[in-house]
Amino acid sequence: MLYHYVGPRSIAERSESAVCGVPVSSPTDLLPRLSSGDLTVTFVVSAEGTLLVADRRSEHVACAGNRPVRAAGEMCFALERGRVLVTRVSNQSTGYCPEPKSWGAVADALRAAGLEPTDGFDPRCEFRRCLGCGWLNLVKDRVFECVGCQAELPNRYNAQEVP
Ligand SMILES: [Zn+2]
Repeated sequence: MLYHYVGPRSIAERSESAVCGVPVSSPTDLLPRLSSGDLTVTFVVSAEGTLLVADRRSEHVACAGNRPVRAAGEMCFALERGRVLVTRVSNQSTGYCPEPKSWGAVADALRAAGLEPTDGFDPRCEFRRCLGCGWLNLVKDRVFECVGCQAELPNRYNAQEVP
């Protein structure tokens, strides 16, 4: 499944051209960023299945160069006795709103880069678009209620559908 950017247009327009995400093809690609020991980055998995990482303040759409992705979120790493460990991965991206099942693409991309995946997303985010007001909600604690208009949110994933 490819996820398209569904966040605010203004952010996408600011990051129209350049891919700011750096491809990770081996754990050593992360070493320059791991000088302080722990690292949190913005990540996407490209359509080709490559893990791309960027500064955690970067927008996912900029990390991806405005292209569709297989997964997006935040990723944490630690350096332990010279070994790069993945310590946490989330699918928290309000730009792409990826489903929990995008985990498979994350695990594949990590293994391809010689990194051991964690057990799954933490937090594991559920995104739903409100059928009433169109707001893209990040569902918390299984409360399927729109923060914009309090309408009930659908059970089915619909964040990629344009209203
Ligand atoms: Zn609503």
